[in-house]
Amino acid sequence: MKKLISKLIHGNILDIPKDPYRSLKMPIYDTASFDFENSQALEDAFLGNRDAFLYSRSANPTIAELQNRLQLFSGSNDCLCVSSGMAAISSVVLSICNAGDNMISTKYLFGNTYSLFTKTLNSVGIETRFADLEDFTALEKMIDSKTRAIFLEILTNPQLIIFDIKRLAQLADKHKILLIVDNTILTPYIFECSKYGVDVEITSTTKFISGGATSVGGAIMTYNSDKWQNIPKLKESFDKFGKQALNKKLTKEVYRNIGCCLSPNNAYLQLLGLETITLRIDKICENTLQVAKFLDVHKKVEQIIYPSLKNSKYYDLAKELFQLKSGPLIHMEFKSKKDCYKFMDALKMVRRGTNFCDNKSMIIHPHSTIYCEFIESEKASMRINDKMLRLSVGLEDIEDILEDIEQALLKI
Ligand SMILES: *Cc1c(COP(=O)(O)O)cnc(C)c1O
Repeated sequence: MKKLISKLIHGNILDIPKDPYRSLKMPIYDTASFDFENSQALEDAFLGNRDAFLYSRSANPTIAELQNRLQLFSGSNDCLCVSSGMAAISSVVLSICNAGDNMISTKYLFGNTYSLFTKTLNSVGIETRFADLEDFTALEKMIDSKTRAIFLEILTNPQLIIFDIKRLAQLADKHKILLIVDNTILTPYIFECSKYGVDVEITSTTKFISGGATSVGGAIMTYNSDKWQNIPKLKESFDKFGKQALNKKLTKEVYRNIGCCLSPNNAYLQLLGLETITLRIDKICENTLQVAKFLDVHKKVEQIIYPSLKNSKYYDLAKELFQLKSGPLIHMEFKSKKDCYKFMDALKMVRRGTNFCDNKSMIIHPHSTIYCEFIESEKASMRINDKMLRLSVGLEDIEDILEDIEQALLKI
């Protein structure tokens, strides 16, 4: 088995111990604890001298299979699944940064990630320096001896900016700091972190991987890196575990101690989601491009941003990095907030709510919802204004999506 879709459906067939009942699906091992045949076996398991499941906060067979499948999906060295995308981000930062250390990032971040960086992590002495990741000279000046990583989303939401990942990887290599990419919106199917010098990939499995917003979860994938040894907090783990330094720091300490484990039920749903993910992504990207083209020439819409449109500033990068599959999100602007609300409220099939990469098309007014905790100047610095909507195109028939949008546009 060489190709991606077969691997996502079957996993490592030869490596998985056969289920006693030969279940073709990985069962949900909904148990907190596991039984041992004798005291020596239990001691050996605790010492790490034999592979065994001990307690589901640390490891569980259903979750382990999801990790194996995500590792195949991404081509990463290791994968660790956690309870949410936010748990993935916070666990990684807490594994590489001590108080007094800093990271470089951008203000164009998922809202809760920005809040995590500016409030929660900042309050324990981990600083995030917000840079213009398109201005490499200014960015380089921000790096100092306490900088541990550059953190970015490969396609920002809802601004839909694509950063030049190759240049950022060169910079991270030059300064021996980690390059961490949140690849939630695209997944390894569209953007392959393994090809671009990314050290750590983070994904919210809640989105595309869950198979249609079935469950919340997150994953941390680590790649071959010669930089683990340059991160003081990973030094001890590097000396013991080499290229598995970050994964082991997480599983043997940070993830285990924080207790942000995924539930086996969610792991099961996400395993199902992975079986059909490529079909769903292909169809959603096709639908989204059609919707973007339709809106782009519509006279009631002031502005449309979608990187696969030829007039997009990021068209060339979308072509090079994503083969023009730019995901499900469209940024659309009207003349006023009032028009945004009128349009949203007139939609009959497209749902109002806060999610994306869903099978259902969804829409939200980010300024009054996702970003409501931030003051106006902060919102402006994140390019969030009250005239914009974020549309996440779903899997429905394109005729129905376009018909719904067209009739709602008549109400403005
Ligand atoms: C949704 C999302 C997150 C957070 O994931 P949760 O599973 O909701 O915690 C982080 N980053 C990006 C880019 C997201 O879209």
